[in-house]
Amino acid sequence: MITKEYSNGEVTILWKPEKCIHSGICVKTLPSVYHPKEKPWINPNNASSQELINQVAKCPSGALSIKKSEAMVRIEQVENNNKGRFSIYENEEFAGEMTYVWAGTSKFIIDHTLVEEKFGGKKYGHKMLMKAVEFAREKGVKILPLCPFAKAQFEKNSSIADVRY
Ligand code: SF4
Repeated sequence: MITKEYSNGEVTILWKPEKCIHSGICVKTLPSVYHPKEKPWINPNNASSQELINQVAKCPSGALSIKKSEAMVRIEQVENNNKGRFSIYENEEFAGEMTYVWAGTSKFIIDHTLVEEKFGGKKYGHKMLMKAVEFAREKGVKILPLCPFAKAQFEKNSSIADVRY
């Protein structure tokens, strides 16, 4: 399958012409970037990298994607009462989460870790755990890993044993 590349120096948009169903969503969302009648028809310099990533996520056919090596990954932490979670996003698409619950003020329990199947093999579970470890160290608290994934990570990795409850 032919794949064409369009880069703004930070992110590279990949386009697979055979997959394109000509929905026109790209043109409607970012008319400054997508010009079907011009060559090249994609000009990624006319929008920010974040705008490009957000737009590519809306392509219904999968014809547009972002080059994998350049995927932008971020982890967001949300806390509500005694519960919290770390959510991981790749190019603004939800990729997984790790949830926890506070047990008193000196420790929290990691009770569940999930990574969406399509994002498997990227160590995103590990990335979220390391974020939880960083958070525990900053707060001077411990982690009780009840989730089997988190427990196995603590058993494998002695460098994070300091925060284990
Ligand atoms: S949004 Fe995707 S499927 Fe629709 S025209 Fe653009 S590239 Fe093609």
